[in-house]
Amino acid sequence: MLRPSYIGSFPRADVLLDPPLPEVAFVGRSNVGKSSLLNALVGQRIAKISGTPGKTRALNVFLIDASHYFLDLPGYGYARAGKEQRAAFRGLVKHALRRERLRGVIWLLDIRHSLSADDQAMQDALAEEETQVLAALTKGDKLSQGKRSTRERELRDELELPEDQVVLTSAKTGEGIADLKEAIAGLVRGMME
Ligand code: GDP
Repeated sequence: MLRPSYIGSFPRADVLLDPPLPEVAFVGRSNVGKSSLLNALVGQRIAKISGTPGKTRALNVFLIDASHYFLDLPGYGYARAGKEQRAAFRGLVKHALRRERLRGVIWLLDIRHSLSADDQAMQDALAEEETQVLAALTKGDKLSQGKRSTRERELRDELELPEDQVVLTSAKTGEGIADLKEAIAGLVRGMME
Protein backbone atom coordinates (compact mmCIF):
# COMPACT_ATOMS: atom_id res chain seq x y z
CA MET A 1 0.00 0.00 0.00
CA LEU A 2 1.13 3.54 -0.70
CA ARG A 3 1.04 5.13 2.74
CA PRO A 4 1.63 8.85 2.29
CA SER A 5 2.79 11.57 4.60
CA TYR A 6 2.82 15.23 3.74
CA ILE A 7 6.31 16.72 3.94
CA GLY A 8 5.59 20.29 2.96
CA SER A 9 4.91 22.90 0.33
CA PHE A 10 8.00 24.58 -1.10
CA PRO A 11 8.27 27.70 -3.25
CA ARG A 12 11.58 26.53 -4.73
CA ALA A 13 12.08 23.31 -6.66
CA ASP A 14 15.68 22.90 -5.54
CA VAL A 15 14.63 22.15 -1.95
CA LEU A 16 16.72 19.43 -0.31
CA LEU A 17 14.70 16.52 0.99
CA ASP A 18 15.88 14.47 3.90
CA PRO A 19 16.31 11.54 3.75
CA PRO A 20 17.36 11.57 0.09
CA LEU A 21 15.14 9.10 -1.78
CA PRO A 22 13.97 8.58 -5.37
CA GLU A 23 11.45 11.15 -6.57
CA VAL A 24 8.54 11.08 -8.99
CA ALA A 25 6.93 14.35 -10.12
CA PHE A 26 3.34 14.92 -11.27
CA VAL A 27 2.60 17.56 -13.89
CA GLY A 28 -0.41 18.55 -15.95
CA ARG A 29 -2.73 21.29 -16.97
CA SER A 30 -4.87 22.72 -14.22
CA ASN A 31 -8.17 20.84 -13.97
CA VAL A 32 -6.71 17.77 -15.70
CA GLY A 33 -7.59 15.71 -12.62
CA LYS A 34 -4.19 15.67 -10.90
CA SER A 35 -5.46 15.96 -7.33
CA SER A 36 -8.08 13.28 -7.96
CA LEU A 37 -5.49 10.92 -9.46
CA LEU A 38 -3.00 11.49 -6.63
CA ASN A 39 -5.72 10.75 -4.09
CA ALA A 40 -6.77 7.62 -6.02
CA LEU A 41 -3.16 6.43 -6.18
CA VAL A 42 -2.57 6.65 -2.46
CA GLY A 43 -6.13 5.75 -1.44
CA GLN A 44 -6.67 8.82 0.66
CA ARG A 45 -7.19 12.53 0.27
CA ILE A 46 -3.71 14.03 0.24
CA ALA A 47 -4.27 16.54 -2.53
CA LYS A 48 -7.04 19.10 -2.60
CA ILE A 49 -9.54 18.76 -5.39
CA SER A 50 -9.57 22.33 -6.48
CA GLY A 51 -12.59 24.41 -7.16
CA THR A 52 -10.23 27.28 -7.99
CA PRO A 53 -7.70 26.26 -10.63
CA GLY A 54 -4.26 27.82 -10.75
CA LYS A 55 -4.16 28.54 -7.04
CA THR A 56 -1.21 26.46 -5.92
CA ARG A 57 2.18 27.80 -6.92
CA ALA A 58 4.46 25.69 -4.82
CA LEU A 59 5.89 22.21 -4.98
CA ASN A 60 3.94 19.92 -2.65
CA VAL A 61 5.94 16.98 -1.39
CA PHE A 62 4.66 13.68 -0.03
CA LEU A 63 6.70 10.81 1.32
CA ILE A 64 5.31 7.50 0.09
CA ASP A 65 5.89 4.22 1.92
CA ALA A 66 9.05 5.67 3.44
CA SER A 67 10.69 4.76 0.12
CA HIS A 68 10.14 7.60 -2.36
CA TYR A 69 8.71 11.09 -2.76
CA PHE A 70 5.83 12.35 -4.85
CA LEU A 71 6.42 15.91 -6.04
CA ASP A 72 3.14 17.58 -6.93
CA LEU A 73 3.78 20.53 -9.23
CA PRO A 74 1.19 23.27 -9.75
CA GLY A 75 -1.20 22.85 -12.66
CA TYR A 76 -0.30 24.88 -15.74
CA GLY A 77 -2.21 26.57 -18.52
CA TYR A 78 -4.51 28.47 -16.25
CA ALA A 79 -6.07 31.06 -18.55
CA ARG A 80 -5.96 33.89 -16.04
CA ALA A 81 -2.37 33.34 -14.95
CA GLY A 82 -0.27 36.48 -15.41
CA LYS A 83 3.06 36.76 -17.15
CA GLU A 84 4.93 36.70 -13.87
CA GLN A 85 3.11 33.62 -12.66
CA ARG A 86 3.87 31.79 -15.92
CA ALA A 87 7.56 32.65 -15.68
CA ALA A 88 7.66 31.49 -12.06
CA PHE A 89 6.03 28.23 -13.11
CA ARG A 90 8.54 27.65 -15.91
CA GLY A 91 11.38 28.17 -13.42
CA LEU A 92 9.81 25.77 -10.97
CA VAL A 93 9.46 23.08 -13.64
CA LYS A 94 12.95 23.55 -15.00
CA HIS A 95 14.48 23.12 -11.58
CA ALA A 96 12.19 20.24 -10.67
CA LEU A 97 13.22 18.36 -13.83
CA ARG A 98 16.87 18.85 -12.94
CA ARG A 99 16.59 17.37 -9.46
CA GLU A 100 19.29 14.79 -8.93
CA ARG A 101 17.00 12.05 -7.61
CA LEU A 102 14.12 12.59 -9.99
CA ARG A 103 13.39 9.22 -11.58
CA GLY A 104 10.64 10.41 -13.82
CA VAL A 105 7.52 12.43 -14.40
CA ILE A 106 3.89 11.40 -14.47
CA TRP A 107 2.43 13.68 -17.10
CA LEU A 108 -1.33 13.95 -16.92
CA LEU A 109 -3.39 14.57 -20.03
CA ASP A 110 -7.17 14.63 -20.35
CA ILE A 111 -8.03 11.78 -22.73
CA ARG A 112 -10.59 13.94 -24.52
CA HIS A 113 -8.22 16.70 -25.59
CA SER A 114 -5.28 17.14 -27.94
CA LEU A 115 -2.12 18.74 -26.63
CA SER A 116 -2.57 22.44 -25.82
CA ALA A 117 0.22 24.97 -26.41
CA ASP A 118 1.10 24.63 -22.71
CA ASP A 119 1.20 20.85 -23.01
CA GLN A 120 3.56 21.23 -25.97
CA ALA A 121 5.79 23.53 -23.92
CA MET A 122 5.84 20.83 -21.23
CA GLN A 123 6.66 18.22 -23.87
CA ASP A 124 9.61 20.37 -25.01
CA ALA A 125 10.84 20.82 -21.42
CA LEU A 126 10.62 17.08 -20.78
CA ALA A 127 12.50 16.33 -24.00
CA GLU A 128 15.15 18.95 -23.29
CA GLU A 129 15.88 17.52 -19.85
CA GLU A 130 15.61 13.95 -21.20
CA THR A 131 13.16 13.14 -18.44
CA GLN A 132 11.66 9.67 -18.21
CA VAL A 133 7.92 10.14 -18.83
CA LEU A 134 4.81 8.18 -18.05
CA ALA A 135 1.70 9.71 -19.60
CA ALA A 136 -1.43 9.18 -17.51
CA LEU A 137 -4.54 9.81 -19.59
CA THR A 138 -7.19 11.08 -17.18
CA LYS A 139 -11.00 10.96 -16.99
CA GLY A 140 -11.25 7.79 -19.08
CA ASP A 141 -14.79 7.28 -17.77
CA LYS A 142 -15.96 10.31 -19.74
CA LEU A 143 -15.71 8.37 -23.02
CA SER A 144 -17.29 5.15 -24.25
CA GLN A 145 -15.07 2.07 -24.43
CA GLY A 146 -14.64 2.41 -28.19
CA LYS A 147 -13.78 6.09 -28.15
CA ARG A 148 -11.38 5.53 -25.29
CA SER A 149 -9.29 3.08 -27.30
CA THR A 150 -9.27 5.39 -30.31
CA ARG A 151 -8.21 8.40 -28.24
CA GLU A 152 -5.56 6.35 -26.45
CA ARG A 153 -4.04 5.38 -29.80
CA GLU A 154 -4.25 8.93 -31.15
CA LEU A 155 -2.61 10.42 -28.08
CA ARG A 156 0.10 7.78 -28.10
CA ASP A 157 0.95 8.83 -31.65
CA GLU A 158 0.82 12.52 -30.77
CA LEU A 159 3.07 11.96 -27.77
CA GLU A 160 5.36 9.57 -29.64
CA LEU A 161 5.46 7.35 -26.59
CA PRO A 162 5.49 3.53 -26.56
CA GLU A 163 2.44 1.65 -25.31
CA ASP A 164 3.91 0.86 -21.88
CA GLN A 165 4.50 4.54 -21.18
CA VAL A 166 0.87 5.55 -21.67
CA VAL A 167 -1.66 4.52 -19.03
CA LEU A 168 -5.38 5.12 -19.32
CA THR A 169 -6.90 6.06 -15.97
CA SER A 170 -10.06 7.15 -14.25
CA ALA A 171 -9.96 8.47 -10.71
CA LYS A 172 -13.72 8.03 -10.67
CA THR A 173 -13.93 4.32 -11.52
CA GLY A 174 -10.41 3.33 -10.48
CA GLU A 175 -9.59 2.11 -13.97
CA GLY A 176 -5.85 1.96 -14.63
CA ILE A 177 -4.88 2.97 -11.09
CA ALA A 178 -3.26 -0.39 -10.33
CA ASP A 179 -1.40 -0.27 -13.68
CA LEU A 180 -0.18 3.22 -12.97
CA LYS A 181 0.99 2.21 -9.48
CA GLU A 182 2.96 -0.62 -11.02
CA ALA A 183 4.49 1.65 -13.66
CA ILE A 184 5.45 4.18 -10.97
CA ALA A 185 7.06 1.40 -8.93
CA GLY A 186 9.10 0.56 -12.03
CA LEU A 187 10.18 4.18 -12.38
CA VAL A 188 11.16 4.35 -8.72
CA ARG A 189 13.26 1.21 -9.09
CA GLY A 190 14.84 2.74 -12.16
CA MET A 191 13.61 -0.09 -14.39
CA MET A 192 12.66 2.11 -17.32
CA GLU A 193 16.02 3.59 -18.12
P1 GDP B 1 -6.56 19.30 -10.84
O1 GDP B 1 -6.89 20.75 -10.98
O2 GDP B 1 -5.72 18.81 -11.97
O3 GDP B 1 -6.00 18.91 -9.50
O4 GDP B 1 -7.94 18.50 -11.04
P2 GDP B 1 -8.98 17.95 -9.96
O5 GDP B 1 -8.55 16.64 -9.44
O6 GDP B 1 -9.27 19.05 -8.99
O7 GDP B 1 -10.22 17.65 -10.91
C1 GDP B 1 -10.80 18.64 -11.73
C2 GDP B 1 -12.24 18.26 -12.01
O8 GDP B 1 -12.29 17.05 -12.78
C3 GDP B 1 -13.05 17.98 -10.75
O9 GDP B 1 -14.36 18.44 -10.94
C4 GDP B 1 -13.02 16.46 -10.63
O10 GDP B 1 -14.13 15.94 -9.95
C5 GDP B 1 -13.02 16.05 -12.10
N1 GDP B 1 -12.35 14.74 -12.30
C6 GDP B 1 -11.09 14.44 -11.94
N2 GDP B 1 -10.78 13.17 -12.27
C7 GDP B 1 -11.87 12.66 -12.86
C8 GDP B 1 -12.21 11.36 -13.43
O11 GDP B 1 -11.41 10.41 -13.48
N3 GDP B 1 -13.44 11.23 -13.98
C9 GDP B 1 -14.35 12.25 -13.97
N4 GDP B 1 -15.53 12.02 -14.55
N5 GDP B 1 -14.08 13.45 -13.45
C10 GDP B 1 -12.87 13.66 -12.89
